[in-house]
Amino acid sequence: MYPIINKDYCKGCNLCVEVCPKRVFEKGMEITHRGYYAAVVKYKEQCTNFKIPNGGKPLCEICWLTCPEHAIEFKED
Ligand code: SF4
Ligand code: SF4
Repeated sequence: MYPIINKDYCKGCNLCVEVCPKRVFEKGMEITHRGYYAAVVKYKEQCTNFKIPNGGKPLCEICWLTCPEHAIEFKED
C-alpha cells in the first residue's frame, strides 16, 4: 500500500512533506479548485508500507496521523 492525497481536503500545509522519513511527498506546484497548493505523492515506492497489501498492518502511519485535514489515505495498485 502507499499513500494518496485527496485534493478535496488538502490545504497545502506540507506537514506530510516534513514528517515523512522516506521523503515520499513533495510540495505541490498546482493550485487546487479550493485555492491551495496541495502536496503531491512523488515517490510512492519509497513508502515503508509499499510491499504490504492493503488491509495489512502498516509499519508506518506518520503522515496519516499528522495530516490535520485527514486528506491522506492508503491504497494499493
Ligand atoms: S499534511 Fe495533509 S493537508 Fe497538509 S499538505 Fe499533507 S496532505 Fe495536505
Ligand atoms: S506511511 Fe510513513 S513512509 Fe509512508 S508516506 Fe507516510 S510517513 Fe512516509
